[in-house]
Formats: sequence, structure tokens, C-alpha cells
Amino acid sequence: LGSIGLIDQASADPHVKICATIEAMRASSRALRRKGARLGLVPTMGALHEGHLSLVHAAKAQCDAVAVSIFVNPTQFGPNEDFNKYPRNFERDCEILRNKNVDLLFAPCAEEMYPSPAATWVNVAGLSDRLCGRSRPGHFRGVATVVAKLFHIVEADVAFFGQKDAAQLAIIRRMVDDLNFAVEVVGCPIVREPDGLALSSRNAYLDPQQRQAATALYQSLQEILREFDSGERRAEKLIAAGKRILVELPCLRLDYLEIVDPETLQEIRTVSRESLVAVAAFLGPTRLLDNAVLKP
Ligand code: AMP
Repeated sequence: LGSIGLIDQASADPHVKICATIEAMRASSRALRRKGARLGLVPTMGALHEGHLSLVHAAKAQCDAVAVSIFVNPTQFGPNEDFNKYPRNFERDCEILRNKNVDLLFAPCAEEMYPSPAATWVNVAGLSDRLCGRSRPGHFRGVATVVAKLFHIVEADVAFFGQKDAAQLAIIRRMVDDLNFAVEVVGCPIVREPDGLALSSRNAYLDPQQRQAATALYQSLQEILREFDSGERRAEKLIAAGKRILVELPCLRLDYLEIVDPETLQEIRTVSRESLVAVAAFLGPTRLLDNAVLKP
């Protein structure tokens, strides 16, 4: 692990408090906050990589204490999706977090989070059915609901999310505004492989051919940015330029490539203000995401 840069032996501190129950997590975070600590939360589904760790670094830089949650949330997976085979490596994740001097790890089981089927859901209307929400019905309802639960359980001052999941970030920001959560939401930049592929726990599913083809997501975004920099502002033309890269690959199936308002996720026809270009594509059964920001 040390050889791939995840574990910094020099900063090793064996202390990370692992909380498996809501009660233990709440007691631990309250104890920290009572001492005056500004607490940061990094919600994850585990199988940690450098993308997750960039959020941990941001949290450590901005907070006195850091909590990470690891929970593969069943309610954000559709019936035919990869919930059962989603990569899980709890021991390795613990070791990584221990070596990053994370203070608290909240790792509940599904029964702890959902002792009975939920009757109450958080649905961010108008945003939850856009981008990934269109091809994954119910996904963002599951995400918003579990993040709301995590916010109530951990009671962090600040929560850190990756720009990699830009629609998720927009939905959480809107939920926090609408429901007056007392948490500050911080978005962190996308961490990439040297060839541009955005890091994702799902990259582990890719075979060598799919792994190579997966860089096309990033390349299509780069092509759009080039067209944009040379003055093109019509979304239709920008999207067509990006699609030309993606259609060349027989093993890649495009889910969507859209230019949207970064807050409302509504489609944009002409890029006259800051916009989000978001792409999702299947490589075999694996669905990958990427995005970039267009700044006029
Ligand atoms: P996940 O475990 O996939 O649910 O991701 C947990 C958090 O890590 C989310 O806020 C993601 O947006 C963020 N994240 C995942 N991959 C990356 C990446 N490549 N760069 C930055 N943040 C990421």
C-alpha cells in the first residue's frame, strides 16, 4: 500500500475511533465538539482511493477533527445495479484512515441505518431526476436521504464532497439550503489518473481494454473545452464535438453528455455563464462519470 502512495508511514498514528452504531458515533462527535473542535465529515462508500483522500486532506486542513463515514448505501442502488458486488475492503480502508490520522470512522451496517424500511425520504425535486437521476431512478433520493441521516448523526460543522459527482454535490447543496442544515458544504476538485481518467472505486471493474477506452470520457471533455476556448458557445455544437470522440469506441456506450446549469442541473442552450459539462458512459456493465466546468 505504501508503494502506491496511500499510506504515509511517517505520519502513522494508530488511533482512529471506529463507531459501528449511531449512538457511539453521536457520542464521539459530540465529545469532540464539546471540546470546541470544528468537525469535518467525509462521507464515502469505502474502497478508498486518492480521490477520497483528497477530501480527507481538505477536511484536515480546514477542521480540527475529521470523521469519515463508510457505508455502501443500499437505497441509492437500483434493483439491477451493483450493490452486492460493489468493492468493499474494510480492513484496508481502516489502515489507510489510521495512517491519515482520521479521528472518527463511522461504519454502520445496513440494519443500523435502516432498522425498518424508511417511510421518510428526501427528494430534491427538479434536480433528482436529471443527469444520473434520469438513468438511475431513485438514486438521488437514496443519496439525499442517507446524507441527511449522516448529517444528523455526525453533526459535523463542515462536510466535504467531490466535484467528481457534480450532480450529487448540487443536490446536497440544495437540500442543505432548503432544509436549513447547520453544515457547510465544501466541494473538492476531481482527482485523476495520469491519463486523465477520474479516480473511482468502480474503475476496479474495468478490464484492460475497457480501462484504456475509459480515458475517452476525459478526452471528450478536453475536446469540448478546446472548442469552447476557440469561441464556440452553442451547447449543441460543443456536445457534438465531445460525442465525436466517444462514438469512435465500440466498447463504450454513452449514457449522457449534457451541458447544464451547475446549480439547477437544467440544460443550457448557449454557454453565457459558468456551466457544467457532464458525461456518463458504460464500459461493459460499468458506468463511469466525469465532468468539467465551462467558464466564459
Ligand atoms: P463514493 O465513495 O464514490 O461515494 O465517493 C465519496 C466521495 O468521494 C464523494 O463526495 C465523491 O464525489 C468523492 N470522490 C470520488 N471520486 C473522486 C475523485 N476522483 N476526485 C474527487 N473526489 C472524488
